[in-house]
Amino acid sequence: MNRKIVIAGNWKLHKTNQEALQLANQIKIKNTHIKKAGIIICPPFTALSEVHSVVKDCNVALGAQNVYWEKQGAFTGEISAGMIKSTGAVYAIIGHSERHQYFGETDETVNKRINAALEAGLKPIVCVGETLEEREKNITAQVVTRQIKGAFAGMSADAMKNIIIAYEPVWAIGTGKTATPDQAQEVHALIRQLISKEFGNAVADNIVIQYGGSVKPDNAESLLGQKDIDGALVGGACLDADSFTAIIAAAEKLLQA
Ligand code: PEP
Repeated sequence: MNRKIVIAGNWKLHKTNQEALQLANQIKIKNTHIKKAGIIICPPFTALSEVHSVVKDCNVALGAQNVYWEKQGAFTGEISAGMIKSTGAVYAIIGHSERHQYFGETDETVNKRINAALEAGLKPIVCVGETLEEREKNITAQVVTRQIKGAFAGMSADAMKNIIIAYEPVWAIGTGKTATPDQAQEVHALIRQLISKEFGNAVADNIVIQYGGSVKPDNAESLLGQKDIDGALVGGACLDADSFTAIIAAAEKLLQA
């Protein structure tokens, strides 16, 4: 199995089109030498087409931050997978904990979004992770198992080849608290085991499982150095081209070692 490391930046509710163009350009220019690490940036929907014009011929891939499951119709304010695909985006973050926390996301809606994204030819980055309360109750494994089973219910092993999973403990997102490399590795190993059980060893060995939760330049290498951590989903630190680039550099260094 070839070791893969993929770094994705979730821009969340940040950047006007002008600002997005500027950040995308900086990220592109600072990472032209990156050969092995995967790079994905996920600006807001409004900036996808513009940012695509900047990154279309380089080693930076484009993703959206959500996707609605219906193809079209009277669903005011929603964006379909086909619409996202038409901007040039390749990936879509699905089931981010902020979607659960503020917008009523459930395991079932995550599953519907994944199916719609796959059908349109997008690659889902599917987020799972426990809250602080759940970790303190010692039910992390139970919660993550339920989320994985729910998200991928009815999925074929073939479809799973287009999936990235992001383990994001909710208590570590935007809080400055990071799971220790050991804490993260333990849950990543569990996720790989679950994928192996449901979809077979080949899928489990090849699937990218990212860690997310206050990843910064100074903790990236120790997290990415763990056996089952194949990348990072980065929030805060991806809004600055230098800190995002430093995290990508940590990934590239590990892949070249
Ligand atoms: C995220 O939003 O997915 C995230 C991990 O954010 P942060 O890096 O800011 O914790």
